[in-house]
Amino acid sequence: MSYLSAFERPLLLNKLSSNHYDLVIIGGGITGVGIALDAASRGLKTALVEKYDFASGTSSRSTKLVHGGLRYLKQFEVALVREVGRERAIVHELAPHLVIPEKMLLPIVEDGTFGKFLTSIGLMVYDVLAGVEKPDQREMLSKEETLEHEPLLEYAHLKGGGLYAEYRTDDARLTIEVMKTAAKFGADSINYVEAVEFEYDKEGIVCGITCKDLLNDITFVINADYVVNAAGPWVDDLRQINHSMNEKHLFLTKGVHIVLPHHKFPVQQSIYFDVPDGRMIFAIPRGKVTYVGTTDTEYKGNVNHIIANKEDVDYLLKAIAHTFPQIKLEASDVVSSWAGVRPLIHEEGKSASEISRKDEVFESSTGLISIAGGKLTGYRKMSEKVVDLVVKRRYKEDGTKPPVCQTESIDLCGGETLPNNKAVNKYIQKIYQQIEKGGLTEYDAWYLVSNYGTQSDAIVNRFFELRPLNIAPIALLKAELWFTVNKEMVFGLLDFYMRRTGRFYFDIESVYSSQQIVLEEFEKYFHWSTDKIQQEIVELEQALQEAANFE
Ligand code: FAD
Repeated sequence: MSYLSAFERPLLLNKLSSNHYDLVIIGGGITGVGIALDAASRGLKTALVEKYDFASGTSSRSTKLVHGGLRYLKQFEVALVREVGRERAIVHELAPHLVIPEKMLLPIVEDGTFGKFLTSIGLMVYDVLAGVEKPDQREMLSKEETLEHEPLLEYAHLKGGGLYAEYRTDDARLTIEVMKTAAKFGADSINYVEAVEFEYDKEGIVCGITCKDLLNDITFVINADYVVNAAGPWVDDLRQINHSMNEKHLFLTKGVHIVLPHHKFPVQQSIYFDVPDGRMIFAIPRGKVTYVGTTDTEYKGNVNHIIANKEDVDYLLKAIAHTFPQIKLEASDVVSSWAGVRPLIHEEGKSASEISRKDEVFESSTGLISIAGGKLTGYRKMSEKVVDLVVKRRYKEDGTKPPVCQTESIDLCGGETLPNNKAVNKYIQKIYQQIEKGGLTEYDAWYLVSNYGTQSDAIVNRFFELRPLNIAPIALLKAELWFTVNKEMVFGLLDFYMRRTGRFYFDIESVYSSQQIVLEEFEKYFHWSTDKIQQEIVELEQALQEAANFE
């Protein structure tokens, strides 16, 4: 039995504190849930704790691309480009509704980062390394063709362009679906439970963790043979608790994205363009908005509260103005934003942008395995590396052959019966035909399928049950809330708006217009006290204020 419903939390807590696990993982970002899926599917009895919500760390604050990292080619990180480049195609097959091919336009401008020749060679090498199939391989464009793809580019300085293959995703949804898929294999994952200390056996080897349930203020122990620290930017905090810090440590760099209404920055397609300081940033249209990012600056502030500031926003607006002079944007046009930190491994003498995105595993003398660095895109390979280490240790003891990684062929929840893009588009049309009768739009069909894949069927059924007493958009919201509370362990407004539906970033108007109704639904589900309701309102208002107030 898997415990994916918020209402089953007491049972799950009971199980976690009374069972003995092979493996317990700290951190419910993409790395942690990836390890949980890999381990559980190899037959290990697996538990995972996440101190806030799943994906609330870096894994909901990325550029939301499953990509080969073209810019790493500039730094000659050939192995990294090859590995993550090939992973893109695999992750796309596992969840084609969530990892969607998207052509990226690279404009070539006078005095830009790449000239025509270098762009052509660079994109060709990228295709080869990433194993891009023929029809998707790079296409070099003349000035006129580039403008046809993106008329907003400035004619005078443009020399041409290159089109290459990328994939876009929703990082938080990807994390949630990997967590849910791990649950299918028996992994017990829980949010709002923090690892606060390690348990040690007589030989001083880590044999579990002491946890604090942050919703009930209760402390308990999870016993396990092996403990993995996949706490992203918090990896060193746990290594410190484990007294296993050495000369290798994390270097955090902050990255900010801003969200603009699409009509204010109406790019026709995703673009990767130059910033005057020599960096490059993305502009990505997504439904009703265009989002732009990212910055890359050393971060020494509070890791538990990372927000965009006016300087970050001005930097991105200036970058847009530089490449798209006819677009007039002001800080007041920013409707939402997000900021996160990259948990990179420190390298002496290198700046934020120069540091490698490679992952690294640290093993302490007390047996703690920590993993840091890496990318969303490479989560499966990173997980394989960690679980290989765990099974090697475990099976060394009894001499049997360790089970091998199988995640390459495990479809993620919502992607099971969708073999490819064509099937996804067909399914969107099917959902549209159904929900149109209930007053919803084609956008809603696209939104549902991009978020939930084939799980949209369940939400649509619930939508029609609710529809007689609710207008269409409200019935949809309530159906989504019902689904996410019962299947995705949602406990609060921000879990719902930010990390399950993405509405906080991509449809902020729907957050403003629905918060009262959603709050009432939560009250019905969880019988919140007046203090809890007040706390939720304050948290949401603060988040809204911080995400869009930069004047
Ligand atoms: P996190 O997602 O931070 O997860 C760690 C989790 O551990 C957190 O949720 C935290 O709450 C939890 N935790 C910490 N301490 C404890 C504790 N004591 N007990 C329990 N839980 C704990 N990669 C790509 O592939 N494509 C991109 O487009 C891309 N863009 C990026 C853009 C930006 C601005 C940034 C910052 C990163 C980007 N990345 C991208 C990199 C990618 O987002 C990260 O590599 C990845 O999300 C890291 O995941 P993680 O699970 O290691 O860390």
